[in-house]
Amino acid sequence: MGTVALSLGATTFAFFTRNPRGGAAKPPAPDDVRALRTLLDKEGFGRLVAHAPYTYNLCSARPDVVDFARRAMREDLARLEALPGGYYNLHPGSHVRQGSDRGIERIVEGLNEVLVPGQRSTVLLETMAGKGTEVGRSFEELARILDGVRYPELVGVCLDSCHVHDAGYDIADDLDGVLDEFDRVIGLDRLKALHLNDSKNPRGARKDRHERIGAGHLGLACFGRIVTNERLARLPMILETPNDLEGYRREIALLRSLAAEGTSEGSAPERRGTKEGNA
Ligand code: ZN
Ligand code: FE
Ligand code: FE
Repeated sequence: MGTVALSLGATTFAFFTRNPRGGAAKPPAPDDVRALRTLLDKEGFGRLVAHAPYTYNLCSARPDVVDFARRAMREDLARLEALPGGYYNLHPGSHVRQGSDRGIERIVEGLNEVLVPGQRSTVLLETMAGKGTEVGRSFEELARILDGVRYPELVGVCLDSCHVHDAGYDIADDLDGVLDEFDRVIGLDRLKALHLNDSKNPRGARKDRHERIGAGHLGLACFGRIVTNERLARLPMILETPNDLEGYRREIALLRSLAAEGTSEGSAPERRGTKEGNA
């Protein structure tokens, strides 16, 4: 995966910790892990952002679903110890008619079961679009989860541009206002990564349909503001746009040119990566 990312001009990338639909995962071969670590070091990659399968739901009403999510997360995090210092992105969960209060409570319980003091990956709660009964569509919901966990230093947030827009935040026209609100409710020190996606739908639609950068309701200018924003520019940025590899290569180059335009002196290069798939 490192060599593909490199060929696209990326300096980070995301990957699923197992088949995105869930299921069993075999541990990576030590030689493969060693080769990957050498490559990442040599090429100066930033932190990697693993993505948990979408099927995990820490706040399902079904105990077997919750048990599976907890067990699988524990396994994922144990395996990620082979790539220390990265992020593990998680959709907080869907409360399926139990209500978001109950959902938040169950997610906190689940995280407290799964997180191990001293672990070297940070779990990132993703900001969600609010499709169905998703928990995490508001900064307030995420803040309540973060406030409940026993090891807050092991948990941060990944902001998905399509999701916050779909959830109703005006990231398209008022990025700084949204970041101010994030800072007030959660604290910008908890923001560790970005998912860069345009949206096929208008603000507040709660649909979660990603669009290619600049082709949706966020628009190119919005991404120009994101990659040059001094509060964001050093975070790992992951593309989850509907693209093939050539499309990702073009989007990474486009974002780099927007970043270069916006910064008069050459500051540290931003981290850009891709993920195939759509979340
Ligand atoms: Zn999504
Ligand atoms: Fe995302
Ligand atoms: Fe996601």
